[in-house]
Amino acid sequence: MNVPTVTLNSGYEIPQLGFGVFLVPADEAEKAVSEALEVGYRHIDTAAIYRNEEGVGAAIAKSGIPRDELFITTKLWNDRQAGEEPHAAIRESLDKLGLDHVDLYLTHWPTPEKDTYLNAWQKLIEIRDAGLSRSIGVSNHLPEHLDRLVAETGVVPAVDQIELHPAHQQADVTAWAEQRGVKIESWGPLGQGKYPLFENAAVAAAAEAHGKSPAQVVIRWHLQRGFIVFPKSVRRERMAQNLDVFDFELTADEVRAIDAIDPGDGSGRVGSHPLEFN
Ligand code: NAD
Repeated sequence: MNVPTVTLNSGYEIPQLGFGVFLVPADEAEKAVSEALEVGYRHIDTAAIYRNEEGVGAAIAKSGIPRDELFITTKLWNDRQAGEEPHAAIRESLDKLGLDHVDLYLTHWPTPEKDTYLNAWQKLIEIRDAGLSRSIGVSNHLPEHLDRLVAETGVVPAVDQIELHPAHQQADVTAWAEQRGVKIESWGPLGQGKYPLFENAAVAAAAEAHGKSPAQVVIRWHLQRGFIVFPKSVRRERMAQNLDVFDFELTADEVRAIDAIDPGDGSGRVGSHPLEFN
């Protein structure tokens, strides 16, 4: 499977399409990730808070796939941003994953009330310098958080992983990222099944025109917009379907019609607001 890669500001390449494991229970993660690797995924997105890093690690170990062919992301949970905690947290994640480094380590949320996200970022820089993560980035950070991190440390995150799908495109964050060479990763790329994206007329029309499923059209929209994306499914046929998006291209008109799904007032958001999640 030839998945295109995106070059991060660290110089490392990330497969633009991967497999996410949010809400995959610990006892199902090994099977799900094993199947995802069999189907052809080489980029896995997990997090300490998903409590399935051990299953992800077991699947990686059993796969026999050379480490340098895999791209593994995990995330620092919010209650471990203070003091030296991030150093302990990455070592625990690496132990669970059975790896000596991850490819990308992210701070999960800015949790502005705690005001520890800058400390977390400073520790991630040390973690990168110690070779425990090749690239470092953030998640759910708004321009005001990003500006502060860059002003205080001079280190620009490789990615910002944000809720992003046609109904919630976060133009302010993507514009900030574009200007500074930060890559956007879309979480909830299919709207987590909570937003009726698949029934949307623009999505349905493109699916019909290309003989593809609505999910494939939405994934293709992310790829053509330049976002990094890792839809989640524990069903093997959907894993395969979500990866089978490189034999068609949305027209510029189709992309524009899907762009227009965003109501523009934030009401398409399906997850938490970064300023309110503490
Ligand atoms: P998603 O948008 O990928 O939706 C997943 C749901 O879509 C599945 O449970 C399934 O019901 C449905 N689905 C998947 N493939 C389908 C198909 N082909 N046809 C029909 N339905 C299909 O939502 P997500 O899992 O929340 O997001 C993807 C990944 O993003 C996560 O697994 C996780 O790795 C990451 N994530 C990160 C954060 C964060 O705060 N950084 C938050 C949520 C998710």
